Amino acid sequence: MFQKVQIKLSLVCCAITALLALAIVLCCLGISEKNMYGQEEALFCLNANTVSYELHTKNPVSIHWYMRNVDAGEDLLYLKVDGVPSTLSEVALTEPERRLAEEVGEYIIKQGIAPITGNFTAEKEYFEYGGEGSKFLVLYGAVSEQQPCVTYLYLYSLKPFLQNVKMQRIGFFAVWLFSIPLVYLFSYGFTSHALQPVAQNHEKQKEFIAFASHELRSPLAVLKTGLSMLEHKPNSGKRERIFSLMGNEMSRMERLVQDLLCLAKVERASLSFQFVPVDLADLAQKVCRTYEGIAKNKGIFLSLEKGGGCPCACDPQRVEQVLVILLDNALHYTPSGQKATVRLYQQRARCYIQVIDTGIGIPDGEKEKIFDKFYQVSSSRSDKGHFGLGLAIAKEICGSHGGKLSVSDTPGGGSTFTVRLPAKR
Ligand code: ADP
Repeated sequence: MFQKVQIKLSLVCCAITALLALAIVLCCLGISEKNMYGQEEALFCLNANTVSYELHTKNPVSIHWYMRNVDAGEDLLYLKVDGVPSTLSEVALTEPERRLAEEVGEYIIKQGIAPITGNFTAEKEYFEYGGEGSKFLVLYGAVSEQQPCVTYLYLYSLKPFLQNVKMQRIGFFAVWLFSIPLVYLFSYGFTSHALQPVAQNHEKQKEFIAFASHELRSPLAVLKTGLSMLEHKPNSGKRERIFSLMGNEMSRMERLVQDLLCLAKVERASLSFQFVPVDLADLAQKVCRTYEGIAKNKGIFLSLEKGGGCPCACDPQRVEQVLVILLDNALHYTPSGQKATVRLYQQRARCYIQVIDTGIGIPDGEKEKIFDKFYQVSSSRSDKGHFGLGLAIAKEICGSHGGKLSVSDTPGGGSTFTVRLPAKR
């Protein structure tokens, strides 16, 4: 499922990036072509100025003059003396060139363009002629101070410029086209990275559902078997035992449902939390008192270490729940004759509650995993109605308070769970 989403996202990402790149390419092309055209215009003006000046000062112009001043590449000069093509035009121009000049002449008449008389000074006294492929900048002038009257057409070819433009466009579009697969690969990598947490969450969700259904199935199976036995042998001597077993399984199921509901609640953030000023030292004392008897029965020495008050704005019921989970675990995983300590202290703007035991400890490789839902290092407690949800709930509660729950080794053996909560200012 994520593969398909990833491909779709990559395509969308790639399309957007490619379109943006295309827009940038088009802008760059536009700017570059404008600059190139400007350079062509400047060159044309320079040549046209020379031609115009020479025609006004030298008469008659010779073929050598023509070759030197005009016949450089694709440009051409068409002269008419009293409306008749000059001998120079007949000699220097080829038939197609003359035809082109005549065409331009007709265009000038059609457009009613007047010749410039004095020296050419640029500033739009020229015009563009032609279509795609063969374009010219044209200067139309007349040397009126002479008799007979000489008119001239200077055609500056834009063919090399158009070829450069074409090559540049092809180059730009080729680069753009080749960049698309690279952009796609980049988008694929990027979306894979971005979707990773979502995929992991999805996996965890699936695991969670599998675990929850598994845990619910076992008590249901016991209840079903018990009911069927009671139905078929209502007066069996095992009646009492079956009822007791069914009762245990129902309590187990009740606890699981309670844990799941609690987890769902705390995962829906702190919406239902009641934050009030609380002295954590009082709260810890209350919890320790509740567990004193249980600890004594197990032969564990339970103590509370508090250096003054620990004011904190929190939901006391939730924080108490965290302490109960940690203390319950500490007493369960600590053998008789050992000790468990609840320690409280404040450091700068933070309150710390530590539940320290000298029990079996947690291997380094398991320290991260124990906060996962349904994770149990050993299944020793599964028979007692524990499902590996306690620490997941405790961690969520701490997180919702803007705090943190972590675990480390107790020096000399055992585990130390540390709850960090923001202190009340
Ligand atoms: P459970 O309620 O099943 O104990 P928890 O989420 O509270 O689940 O704990 C997860 C696992 O972490 C337990 O199965 C246990 O293996 C380990 N654990 C928790 N607390 C301690 C502790 N104080 N000492 C050793 N192991 C612990």
